[in-house]
Amino acid sequence: MNDSMKDRTRETKKRMHSLRSLRTAYTLLVLLILVSAGLITASVYIILYSLDFIPPSALTPLKLPVIVIISCMLFGTLLAVFVGKLFINPLRRLIAANEEIRQGNFKVRLSEQTVIGELNNLMRSFNSMADELEATELFRNDFINSFSHEFKTPIVSIRGFARQLQRDNEKHTLTDAQRREYTDIIAYEADRLARLSSNILTLTKFENQQIVTDKTEFYLDEQIRRTVLLLEKQWTAREVTIELKLEEIRYNFNEEMLAQMWLNLLGNAIKFSHIGGTVLVRCRKKNGFIRVDISDSGEGMEEETLHRIFDKFYQSDSSHKSEGNGLGLAIVKRIAELANAEITVKSEAGKGTTFSVSLPPAVE
Ligand code: ADP
Repeated sequence: MNDSMKDRTRETKKRMHSLRSLRTAYTLLVLLILVSAGLITASVYIILYSLDFIPPSALTPLKLPVIVIISCMLFGTLLAVFVGKLFINPLRRLIAANEEIRQGNFKVRLSEQTVIGELNNLMRSFNSMADELEATELFRNDFINSFSHEFKTPIVSIRGFARQLQRDNEKHTLTDAQRREYTDIIAYEADRLARLSSNILTLTKFENQQIVTDKTEFYLDEQIRRTVLLLEKQWTAREVTIELKLEEIRYNFNEEMLAQMWLNLLGNAIKFSHIGGTVLVRCRKKNGFIRVDISDSGEGMEEETLHRIFDKFYQSDSSHKSEGNGLGLAIVKRIAELANAEITVKSEAGKGTTFSVSLPPAVE
């Protein structure tokens, strides 16, 4: 049973317990109303009788029970109206708050100080649900802002340079070098847009996926070697040396998905390496897990950056902004979740970074 299932089971047990306690509270309240109504009736009856307000003719075996029953019903109803408010008022507030949430107001919260303890639990559940919804809404807005910004910037740039070239068709004011530069920028920005769209599609696909399909058996070390070859253009351009220490390991998973993880981690290690730097990739079995370490001796990260690297669209360094879109590690994180893998990062500004992935043993 995984952690989220255990949490859900625990939550269901808690709710069942709350419901049982609520039922007990309700039963005790009914009992309290009945006993109180009986006691009030008896007290009123004794007082009125001792003050001679009740004529002896009313004490006949037929009239007495009728008077007692009617009095009990009267006092019981009055008590029920009063006590019922203790139950009804918080529930009314809960219904109104639910309606607010339905209309999109995620700021609404309820007081957790009602007289009945179990209703407080209900209010607490509602408040934590509202907290979650508010956080999701904030995250969604943030995502949409970043998303539009990331798309808009290259589009505005492409439009600007394309217009300059259009104008030049009539006025012929640009030099050959300028024309070449502008078309280069347009091609570069179009590439960036294409990369961004494909990253967004990949991330959305993995986020909507709950189970991993198309699992096959393959050699992990071989897969990492192939990824290194795929990135040859990048590491040769930066004169980066790639050192491989790979144990032969067979693994069973969606091959394409895992390859994407190495591609993003290795791509970053190369991108953030100094010119002429070294990237070390190790893959070995450790304590029953399969451990892959990707270490670079590049610029490293500050503590603050480390906390945010897995956020969508987060990029710390403006000088590398054009080379990425801040989605690479968000994709890595999602793949790791689907693979039940753990990722740890160690980094020191100016010294380098190591990403370590611990994959669970493959299930055959
Ligand atoms: P990007 O497209 O910018 O590479 P990622 O999601 O892959 O986006 O990475 C997010 C940020 O994490 C990067 O902009 C960078 O600041 C930081 N980062 C990731 N990997 C490394 C690394 N190996 N060394 C230094 N910083 C890194």
